[in-house]
Amino acid sequence: MSIILTSTNSASANPETTAKAKAFVATHVAKFKPLELTANKAWWDANTTGKDEDFKKKEEAQNKIDAALSDKAVYKELYALKYDVKNIDDPLLARSINVLYLMYLEKQVDPELLKKITAKANAVEKAFNVYRAKIDGKEMSDSQVREMLKNGTESELKRKVWEASKGVGKLVEADLKELVRLRNEAAKQAEFKNFQAMMLFLNEQSSDELIKLFDDLDKLTVGPFTAAKAEIDEKLAKVYDIKKTELMPWHYHDPFFQESPAVFDANLDAPYQKSDILQLCSKFYAGIGLPIDDVIARSDLLEKKGKSPHAFCTDIDKEGDVRVLANIVANEYWMGTMLHELGHSVYSSKNIPQTVPYVLRSESHILTTEGVAMQFERFSKSRLWLEKMGVKIDDPVAFDAAAKKVQRNQLLIFSRWCQVMLRFEKAMYENPDQDLNKLWWDLVEKYQQVNRPVGRNMPDYGAKIHICSAPVYYHNYMMGQLFASQVHHTIARELYDNVDPSTVIYIGDKKVGEFMKKKVFEPGRTLDWQALTKFATGEELNPKAFAKDFQAK
Ligand SMILES: [Zn+2]
Repeated sequence: MSIILTSTNSASANPETTAKAKAFVATHVAKFKPLELTANKAWWDANTTGKDEDFKKKEEAQNKIDAALSDKAVYKELYALKYDVKNIDDPLLARSINVLYLMYLEKQVDPELLKKITAKANAVEKAFNVYRAKIDGKEMSDSQVREMLKNGTESELKRKVWEASKGVGKLVEADLKELVRLRNEAAKQAEFKNFQAMMLFLNEQSSDELIKLFDDLDKLTVGPFTAAKAEIDEKLAKVYDIKKTELMPWHYHDPFFQESPAVFDANLDAPYQKSDILQLCSKFYAGIGLPIDDVIARSDLLEKKGKSPHAFCTDIDKEGDVRVLANIVANEYWMGTMLHELGHSVYSSKNIPQTVPYVLRSESHILTTEGVAMQFERFSKSRLWLEKMGVKIDDPVAFDAAAKKVQRNQLLIFSRWCQVMLRFEKAMYENPDQDLNKLWWDLVEKYQQVNRPVGRNMPDYGAKIHICSAPVYYHNYMMGQLFASQVHHTIARELYDNVDPSTVIYIGDKKVGEFMKKKVFEPGRTLDWQALTKFATGEELNPKAFAKDFQAK
């Protein structure tokens, strides 16, 4: 293992503080290891079976974890250690104290206030669950709305459907505003200026640093995005038989234009319909020196009754028991998803050594593990990758062109959407009393270049459930994409003699696995995301590599 940590200490190190910190961490691990194991197993069982008793077990284990983290006396002890961390004579121990401090700090909210917050969030989520868009008195399901927005051709009807789908925003507006107020109150109790600042701090991020990064991303992507969108607008205007300037939010297929409209004739599924997706994954990961057959053996990968319809990867015990839940179907979506989830699986205790302390034996950050998963996921749209994996493509030139366009549009459109989410949440928590309806549409117009419906003054932001249920989180997906590009470009530069990164597909190259292990996986959480990015790529996280992936060739 090759971890270089700058010592925080030396001259001032105090053996007594070090001993106290060591004892604190040991007590924490002794208590949490069994709790986390129980919670992880119950979570796995609940999702594979759908049984109430398993969900109950999971909830009980989680409650025990939360209770332990909110313990005031324990927090007091930890707080003292955190503010004396420079006196800890062991950098890994000091890092463990810093990481634990963030975990405990999150749970220090006044229990009465926390109850109110949970109740408000539940009220909003419940409203989402029961809300149905109504058009001319008729209720529509969520999938009917999506189907209509995607395939409907009549602009007037699409407008009605889109507006009805946003109706939930008005319904939850008051509760959501109250939730924002309560969250800010909790943040102020903990001496943060607002909830967004607190959430970022807990995730080792800061608002200024993020805004600078997203400003840079904006500058580098605005050109390619504008060009890609002009091409999409052209197609959409033709479909709806209107002028490009008349395109409105309901014309973009997705209710928030967070995904690419399906306007290009791109069937990427054909090559996968006769392929064994699992076998391709097994062969690929073994070839790069990161075998995953043990993961597959423990996983639950095919559709069955009662099971979660989604996909995720989980590290059950931090000792190598890593599993994937999926519902594989032979198409491009599931090829990408399996490469993604198995990407998470190789960045786990399978490849983070047992010598890394338990508290730090995980990914550096959510954005780094999402980044690794995305780095591998992208190959499902690579003609070169497919051909070298031995998958037959009937019309390789057409596949190549379509796949590149889909990939490019998806990533560019997603990046603009993330700009809106990051900036909206920042401004909303900073000043919840401003005109949020206007703020939302100002950002949508600026970053997504989607027209604001004339005269519309509605809380459309409220129709995005993540603002309630996954606050201050979206930017991590975008940063994961930047991380994916930056690591990939580093591999192309260092292991492939600086060739064009779009030609680098890793297949059969054990040195890729070596690089990922040494430079990305093995440090675990001993390094924060910024230090890890620098360690792996020589640079701080930045959008240059991501933007290069979209420059015209
Ligand atoms: Zn993921």
